[in-house]
Amino acid sequence: MSEPAIYYFDNNATTRIAPEVLEAMLPFLRECWGNPSSTYAFGRQVGEHLDRARARVAALINAEPREIIFTSCGTESNNSAIHSALVTQPAKRHVLTTAVEHSASTKFCALLQQQGYIVTFLPVASDGGLNLELLEQSIRPDTAIVSVMWANNETGVLFPVPDIAAICRRRGVLFHTDAVQTPGKLAIDVREVEVDFLSLSAHKLHAPKGIGLLYLKRRVKYQPYIVGGGQERGRRGGTENVANIVAFGRAAELAMASLEAENTRVRALRDKLESAILGGIPGTSRNGAKEPRLPNTTNIAFDGVEAEGILMLLDQAGICASSGSACTTGSLEPSHVLTAMGCDAARARSSIRFSLGIYNTEADVDYLVQCLPGLIARLRASAPAA
Ligand code: PLP
Repeated sequence: MSEPAIYYFDNNATTRIAPEVLEAMLPFLRECWGNPSSTYAFGRQVGEHLDRARARVAALINAEPREIIFTSCGTESNNSAIHSALVTQPAKRHVLTTAVEHSASTKFCALLQQQGYIVTFLPVASDGGLNLELLEQSIRPDTAIVSVMWANNETGVLFPVPDIAAICRRRGVLFHTDAVQTPGKLAIDVREVEVDFLSLSAHKLHAPKGIGLLYLKRRVKYQPYIVGGGQERGRRGGTENVANIVAFGRAAELAMASLEAENTRVRALRDKLESAILGGIPGTSRNGAKEPRLPNTTNIAFDGVEAEGILMLLDQAGICASSGSACTTGSLEPSHVLTAMGCDAARARSSIRFSLGIYNTEADVDYLVQCLPGLIARLRASAPAA
């Protein structure tokens, strides 16, 4: 059966597993299936591969291998960091974060509020930027942790994490950054930018779903979120997902190697797509600042059309993209990110995110650019008059 042609512009949602990554992980599903904690050689040798993978992912952010805790996903990493900061400092009951974090943080913070914790969600400007003076003023004596994402998954807008890390250090507050969208796109060095916690997720960098990591700076107090066996130096219970961890290690190596391609070739494709849309389709505009921004992401509002309709017609043409709107109880909830940037509900509901990756070609972009104008015109023609 031949696969239908897919034009994939949703790399911030998940990425295709790289063939090299699949190759690296398969032996750990076939032959090398021992438990890495076992005392016999059959298990021990699996443990050695685990160590190697840990060193590889550590190198991606210039961390020490012992500072890496493997988790099941970016969501678990975010939850774990915030949870640990609160339980290791019981007298501090305030969390400082932003209104545009991924739901992996915002929903956890909302749960904390229900449990009596105090959470400040910092506002953002219309271009998605953060006011650092306001951030610093919002740190309180009882702030347990500041949690701010590095790159926004919907708009690609980058927050000044080095500056935020410096503020937190100066004020003696723990700092967590959700860096899930950065690998392969941004060089990260935790020795230079001193964060206490950092989250990554393997499926955003051409490895499988179901594996993530939490970077935990040496000597920072930690209370595990999941307890059980003594895995991960007692910091995360549960037998290690060896095949996925090995895959993560290989993907980390490849991500370091693809940094240049993402920042030149992929950036050029994204810019070509963005200018073709903004210049060629009337009633379109970008959401979020042009720079600093991830090199692969563009988020565009198409006046007068619902994103749902656009996505449906794109899907019929074999094109995958997404909107930040969540479908809850049958109606489209406008994206909390765009809403926080001051977009009204109509604009937020008419916005589409295109996120490119290393497997996108010029021909993919040409095809999308060729399809979009007709498709938008069709939807506008059938839209009820305002
Ligand atoms: N943080 C950000 C910025 C993300 O984009 C995502 C996933 O889209 C997550 C966290 C959650 O990661 P995971 O799917 O591995 O739980």
